[in-house]
Amino acid sequence: MTFSKFGQKFGANSGITSLMDDLGEALGGESEMIMMGGGNPAHIPEVQDAFKSRLHNIINSQKDFESLIGTYDPPKGNVAFIRELRDLLNAEYGWHLTSENIALTNGSQSAFFMLFNLLAGEYDDGSFKQIQLPLTPEYIGYSDSGLTENFFHANKPSIESIDSETFKYHINFDLLEIAGNSGAICVSRPTNPTGNVLTDNEILKLDRLAKQNEIPLIIDGAYGTPFPNLIFTEATPVWNENIVLCLSLSKFGLPAARTGIVIAKPEIIKSISSMNAIMNLATGSFGSLLAVNLLKSRDIISLSHNVVKPYYETKALKARDFLLQKLKGLPVQLHKVEGAMFLWLWLKGCPVDNEVLYQRLKAKGVLIVSGHHFFPGLNSSEATAWQHTKECLRITYSQSEELVLRGLEIIASEVQFAYQHG
Ligand code: PLP
Repeated sequence: MTFSKFGQKFGANSGITSLMDDLGEALGGESEMIMMGGGNPAHIPEVQDAFKSRLHNIINSQKDFESLIGTYDPPKGNVAFIRELRDLLNAEYGWHLTSENIALTNGSQSAFFMLFNLLAGEYDDGSFKQIQLPLTPEYIGYSDSGLTENFFHANKPSIESIDSETFKYHINFDLLEIAGNSGAICVSRPTNPTGNVLTDNEILKLDRLAKQNEIPLIIDGAYGTPFPNLIFTEATPVWNENIVLCLSLSKFGLPAARTGIVIAKPEIIKSISSMNAIMNLATGSFGSLLAVNLLKSRDIISLSHNVVKPYYETKALKARDFLLQKLKGLPVQLHKVEGAMFLWLWLKGCPVDNEVLYQRLKAKGVLIVSGHHFFPGLNSSEATAWQHTKECLRITYSQSEELVLRGLEIIASEVQFAYQHG
């Protein structure tokens, strides 16, 4: 059977497909794999208690229960959720949002598919625009989301060596030029895979560049601010009419509910709503109904700040210290731990490349993600010429401490072996 061009592109195996297959098998199947490869959030008791109690209340109210299972929401998303979110963001940050500035999507992953193809690709006048990623490494999930090829253009970072064990990426503003054919700039903050948090100053500069070039700045806040706030440094939430801020309930603890949030100017929100209608009729109601009370009470902010963030930060520091201690003496560095749920390990001059290490670790029962997937927008010759793309591993530490330490032990011994024996 021959599939259409669309079918060949989107029905084929992509980086994100194999990652989610790995994740599904490791977390949902019979396998004994230690899952340190996906972005599945931790199961945090306080967060789950809040949702359990809300679920009980929904079940005890016929009206709420009918909304939960028996009513389509509008294509733009649940009206009450959007209203409460608007009020929360205006009250906390003075953003002057109306309900016309917010749409929901079935997970923020689908929001990126819609936004990217809305703002880049082929235009009526025959021109072609790209999404510019001003700092690579960047999120694997963007890679295959363009309807056409060559959809992204990425810029290499400057690398600051903080100490012998730690480095940090910065946007290289000296070399960053917004290409004439850029349709939008996009960054994840915190960044998946590195846990980097772009500083307020970096965001300000990007915002300025985007406005000067009359293109939107997309900020992917799946791990970010104001919720779920997996940020261990300072980062101010920002929005204005030129920013498209994407949030999600997933990393707060509701990945299965598939609730993404887009905050943008009304023109963009209208288009998202239309695309939602064509692809899904409506957005799912489950996440909205479960979380709406947390918006109304503002508990989503306090839980993010007082429970979710410290939960991940404690795990992050423990995992970092353990791994660095196990790798002492080797020429490796970890990216500064600033947010998200990953360690990003740079194996300098390692004789074995990251894809092979991924395979070896999988055979030993530990799933990580090879770093080479996280350079969307570099063309193959740029990626080949930059050894760094073959020297990094992404390691997720959201699982139980016992599993994480066991996994890190295996990773460390495999890395030791690679340096000693190739
Ligand atoms: N953005 C980033 C940076 C992510 O890591 C993820 C998921 O891991 C997403 C977006 C998509 O998340 P979701 O579709 O669950 O909202």
